[in-house]
Amino acid sequence: MSGVIVSKFGGSSVANAGQIEKVRRIVAADPRRRLVVVSAPGKDAGDSEKVTDHLFNIATDGEHFRLRGKKIDAHQSHARVIAKFESLIGELAIDGADIIADLAADLASAIDGRKRIDFFASRGEHYCAKVIARYFKSKGMPTRLSLPEDVGFIVSERFGNAKVLPCTYANLRENVNTQDITVIPGYYGITQKGDIAVLSRGGSDLTGGEVAFAMDAILYENWTDTDGVYQVDPRLIPEASVIPELTYKEIRLLSARGFNVFHFDAMVNCKHKNIPINIRNTNNPDAAGTMIVSARTPRETAVGIARMDGLASVYLEKDMIGETVGFTQELLDIFKSFNINTHHYPSDLDDIAVIVDQIDLTGKVDDLKKAIHERLHPNLLEIHNDLCLLSPVGAGMKGTPGIMAAAANALYQEGINIEIVDQGPAQLSIHFGIHQKYGDTGLKALFKAMLKHKDTK
Ligand code: ASP
Repeated sequence: MSGVIVSKFGGSSVANAGQIEKVRRIVAADPRRRLVVVSAPGKDAGDSEKVTDHLFNIATDGEHFRLRGKKIDAHQSHARVIAKFESLIGELAIDGADIIADLAADLASAIDGRKRIDFFASRGEHYCAKVIARYFKSKGMPTRLSLPEDVGFIVSERFGNAKVLPCTYANLRENVNTQDITVIPGYYGITQKGDIAVLSRGGSDLTGGEVAFAMDAILYENWTDTDGVYQVDPRLIPEASVIPELTYKEIRLLSARGFNVFHFDAMVNCKHKNIPINIRNTNNPDAAGTMIVSARTPRETAVGIARMDGLASVYLEKDMIGETVGFTQELLDIFKSFNINTHHYPSDLDDIAVIVDQIDLTGKVDDLKKAIHERLHPNLLEIHNDLCLLSPVGAGMKGTPGIMAAAANALYQEGINIEIVDQGPAQLSIHFGIHQKYGDTGLKALFKAMLKHKDTK
């Protein structure tokens, strides 16, 4: 079974017939590409929404878009989904009347409750895989379709955020054939009771990672619509280049906002088996993309800069914090009881700050302050909003003098005050907290000082 590549294609790669032909060529170009995992069609020119969102909207009788302030009712969504699959089938010139009839029957299904939502949401991947498998066959490629319900892709009963159960791996090894090209719909599985349940949004990445893990793939390719992982967000800094190689640890640190090229959880199992992940561009298959590996020899210091916006610092002053055993634990316990995720907690002898997402404080500020006052009796408690964290990341930063100095100097040259500084203990990242209004300028300054014109290979 070794020697097999798992190739996962995202929504934009299967959004229309032209894209699906690109997918076919990519698969045909390497005989090791045996396992093809597909998303539901994403947004094409002229589509305001992805197929999956329309399916949620049908299942919820229009609630899905209503909640998002969009005026698309369930009937309109139904028409869009059917029209999308009709146009794929027509443009790919395959025989698909049965596919449309089955899809229409599924969308008329009387299942109710949460199971209904998951069943409907899964139909995008389900029918997209059927269309693609049939198209490959029509082009003379030996192809089979392996549906999660047929090969034993078993998931938990946590509808909407189901988790893959370990028995899935043996099932896949037993039931998935690698002689032919096998097309597998992503994003959903089947529960032990036989119900369809979907993984979290963007979950086709997870399916791909699980298939790669189960089948001992030599590579997990994640085909998307960008050339790979950029050093910084290229929308802000167009000269940013694609990073050719990153370790799992580096991508994890970069995958804080701005680097959301793929579902991070998809990596965990691949990491355990050292299966490299290659982020590639369906629209530019000649580009090598970004390879994510367990170890690399860095030739540079920082490899990219992560950015987190919209943070808040909950700041406390109290005499003798530094000498009070368990103070930090007690403080963090309060955040836990409010279900607020904490990012960093820089501290000194008589003060401590807890960095959180500002949005997580919505509606909780008064109660949170009250709880902190009651349990810890601080002399001062303040919440400072509008914090932005800029974090140079790179395996080559470890043990290299002058990184912090160069970064701090770049911010200083722009007149930017550093409010917080925190070096990750593994020395792979340094986090600079600055005011949100300097976010763009600060990122540009750090890019210029640390990454510009540097070979990142
Ligand atoms: N179609 C699903 C979504 O839109 C899953 C995926 O595309 O990976 O979230």
